[in-house]
Amino acid sequence: MPRFTYQDYRKKMSIIADLRYASAVLQWDQETYLPAKGAARRGQQVATLAEAAHERFTAPETGELLQALANAGGLTASEQRNVALSLEDFEKLKKIPASYVHQLASTTQQAFHHWVEARKNNDFRLFAGSLQQLVELKKQETDYLGYTAHPYDALLNDHDKGSTVTQLDQLFGNLKTPLKELLDRIQKKPVPDNSLLRNKFPHEQQWQFGMKILERLGYDFEAGRQDIAAHPFTINFCAGDVRITTRIDENDFTNMTWSTIHEAGHALYEQGLPDDEYGLPLGEAASFSIHESQSRLWENHVGRSQAFFRFIGPMLKEYFPDAFRELDSENLYRAVNTVSPSLIRTEADELTYHFHVMIRYELEKALFSNTLKPGDIPAAWNELYRNYLGITVPDNSNGCLQDVHWSHGSFGYFPTYSLGSFYAAQFFHTASKTISGLNEQIGNGNFAPLLNWLREQVHAHGRRWTSEELCLKISGEPLNTRYFMDYLLDKYGKIYQL
Ligand code: ZN
Repeated sequence: MPRFTYQDYRKKMSIIADLRYASAVLQWDQETYLPAKGAARRGQQVATLAEAAHERFTAPETGELLQALANAGGLTASEQRNVALSLEDFEKLKKIPASYVHQLASTTQQAFHHWVEARKNNDFRLFAGSLQQLVELKKQETDYLGYTAHPYDALLNDHDKGSTVTQLDQLFGNLKTPLKELLDRIQKKPVPDNSLLRNKFPHEQQWQFGMKILERLGYDFEAGRQDIAAHPFTINFCAGDVRITTRIDENDFTNMTWSTIHEAGHALYEQGLPDDEYGLPLGEAASFSIHESQSRLWENHVGRSQAFFRFIGPMLKEYFPDAFRELDSENLYRAVNTVSPSLIRTEADELTYHFHVMIRYELEKALFSNTLKPGDIPAAWNELYRNYLGITVPDNSNGCLQDVHWSHGSFGYFPTYSLGSFYAAQFFHTASKTISGLNEQIGNGNFAPLLNWLREQVHAHGRRWTSEELCLKISGEPLNTRYFMDYLLDKYGKIYQL
């Protein structure tokens, strides 16, 4: 009799997943309905469950079990893959001492608080000390995790297995010049009239409109729900319970609409993961970049396409009769797709967005090569915004303090946003060649063929393949920026008549 069976492994992983997802339910509640006085205890409750899951997973018995199964024969290919990936996770997490995990958690809690204060008071000095500590801790982490070429590789790899400075330097290097040239050409053209976006869009109608869009895209309301939160996000507890949030600004219907489509893209991925692999790697998303490829494919390639505006035009008239009585979908398409360099990443258009990411990438790379001190970030930030976007940053709140990521100690995260866009463009190009009449279907509000294709090509595989392997399998080519650039050239060439 073998000492450990695959069933033992499944059971162990399922219990660990129960703890992790129970913690996630509490987090979801924290962001949506938690009364103010429950906040302190809730932080503790979330931390206790997360720690219990971590302890179980990193216990020596887990390592023994995984090692024994990895060496034993008789597993199917999928079972082998699960065990191999779990063993990889185990080896990685084992390298990080528990004392470090505690220290990082308490430092990020403080750092977040300092960041909120610094941003509110427009005073970088209030965050500088915490930022310095976090960078030092993360440098320590790169030593634990290990790297060959560049310390920053360890953090990139943590968000997207196989992602390196070499890969990103090449992708961003190839994109930078053509992207800048396209931006320059666009800026010589007249600015599209977007006065039709400035109107009153009542809360209730926006909510109903958002719910309708979700339903049409294929989001399964029997496997999730939508609520209001300060910052839109997607959170999953199993394939049968994937929740999203949105926010509503009555002066701007675009904010709600495209953030809802973005979160729907994330949620459709999670709803499409194989439920029989619950708690196992094959039941999880492939990577941050692939996750972002799904949200961006739906948000941009579908949601910001000319065809999509043909679909939502009549709906907009119905839901917002006061604002859109005389709506011309074509004009709305151009207004929503206006390109203009701006200060804030999350409000950027599809083109200039990637300069915001490149700036953060350059800064993080410099921090982890010891060529930039955390205290010098404001000056370096402002300089890069001048160079890349021709923008003068008026203050740090709208400059280097705008994103929450660094206060969480999330270094190596930003590049996954751009990678997501590049994967999305490459996948959508393949989808357009494969699915006949895809554009017409989008125009008719028929999204099932695209969703089914993504289910087969991406969702069903979980973590079986790395981002790069998945890309090669789907598109027949390694990731490159050509499809993304071609997409932008075609789209904006027509909108701006270049
Ligand atoms: Zn996203």
